[in-house]
Amino acid sequence: MHKNFIDGVWCEGPGVRENLNPSDLSNLVGLYAQADSQQTQQAIQAAAYVQPLWAAYGPQRRAEALDQIGTEILARREELGRLLASEEGKVLPEAVAEVSRAGHIFKFFAGEALRMTGEHLDSVRPGIEVDILRQPVGVVGIITPWNFPIAIPAWKIAPALAYGNSVVFKPADLVPGSAWALAEIISRAGLPAGTFNLVMGRGSVVGQVLAESANVSAITFTGSTSTGRHLMQVAGARLARLQLEMGGKNPLVVLDDADLEHAVECAVQGAYFSTGQRCTASSRIIVEKGIHQRFIEAVASRLSEIRVGHALHEGTHIGPVAEEAQLRQNLEYVDIGQAEGARLAYGGQPLSRTSEGYYMSPALFVDAAPDMRIAQEEIFGPVACVIPADDYEHALEIANGTPFGLSAGICTGSLKHATHFKRHVKSGMVMVNTPTAGVDYHVPFGGTKASSYGPREQGHQAIEFFTTLKTAYTLA
Ligand code: NAD
Repeated sequence: MHKNFIDGVWCEGPGVRENLNPSDLSNLVGLYAQADSQQTQQAIQAAAYVQPLWAAYGPQRRAEALDQIGTEILARREELGRLLASEEGKVLPEAVAEVSRAGHIFKFFAGEALRMTGEHLDSVRPGIEVDILRQPVGVVGIITPWNFPIAIPAWKIAPALAYGNSVVFKPADLVPGSAWALAEIISRAGLPAGTFNLVMGRGSVVGQVLAESANVSAITFTGSTSTGRHLMQVAGARLARLQLEMGGKNPLVVLDDADLEHAVECAVQGAYFSTGQRCTASSRIIVEKGIHQRFIEAVASRLSEIRVGHALHEGTHIGPVAEEAQLRQNLEYVDIGQAEGARLAYGGQPLSRTSEGYYMSPALFVDAAPDMRIAQEEIFGPVACVIPADDYEHALEIANGTPFGLSAGICTGSLKHATHFKRHVKSGMVMVNTPTAGVDYHVPFGGTKASSYGPREQGHQAIEFFTTLKTAYTLA
């Protein structure tokens, strides 16, 4: 049994959750404690009590702790990658890469702990000096989704701790294994008891208490837009600081002058790898008419080479869908797309493999219209649609025509169109001749419109959310 970590103590909870391998449902990854609201309150109280002490540890000790955590994650990347692939279903190389990313993030924020800079100015009034100080926010509630079980927790926990905040971390119900392993590493990094708490349990229980508790000064959340809106209503109503990273419906524009082979790789990589379960996945591929026919034939042909299978088996390109409900939803959208009049050019079928798991073939729709549900709603699986466009301007208009704005891409040989697209597409991240998914760990991450709310995550800019400014006036 894997326990929760509250106030420096490993605690059983009133409930237990089975963590099953979506590649092989006969494989139990482990049993994980489920906390109730009382345990969540205990964690919040412990975090609130100890936070000033952790802040007073100073940047050197905080940097050393984060660096130690990063070093251990990197040293154990193969083992932790296997665990991640077993519970989430992404293929082993992707899982190991995600673990490495988590390790690098801790090391990056170890350095950032030393760069918590303020400003010093002369006052406009004689004899007075002004200091703008950066201070920790207090207790940070961290709520994460299942699709990046270690990287997303890392990019929230590391900056929270680096800048002197304490943490109550609630991972997604589906993937407690990676979260628990990360918590176990953090538990040995010399933080005072209560600085970091792991509280596994239901969103409607643990997440709700975090949202409601007046002792939680800030909540950083990644997940669906509907849960984000709910947090806005509950935590926003009590004026908590909020950072919400939510859904996407990311466009990849392919223009006539694109390198065909490269554009196909960008589309297949961006739309289907990690089983399409990336918030930055390309789910709308907007293709100019001159290259359209050759492009869809080439994508269908490339998809026929993709091997769907057990995430830990060598040679698998795409693992299973993470859970049954998500698989059902993906297949429902395959039906919806056909009923709306789009043509299913490839895949979209449930698959059987030697082990029982949530397998499906990548689905490619063509002749989709921009206002169809499959072109507007986040599906979050290996389902993408091709929307034909008359020219660049038309493609840009379609690209901007959803409520989301996380990532956007363009494949083109034209500097003019690439430059225009970078400036005018409505998204927080834009990719030129690279897939919409796949980002660096040392630069800001986030979107516009319904995809994001609040300051950016990651990079030096993470300081904006995890610290608060105080302006001090001194009569010298
Ligand atoms: P989800 O919204 O169902 O759950 C996310 C987290 O919120 C989980 O930990 C869940 O337990 C918790 N939660 C659920 N109900 C809650 C409540 N009432 N109060 C507080 N917390 C609650 O999302 P998911 O299915 O885990 O993840 C998939 C979604 O995440 C997709 O929409 C995807 O686009 C999004 N996502 C966004 C980004 C980004 O950076 N923009 C990155 C990854 C995933």
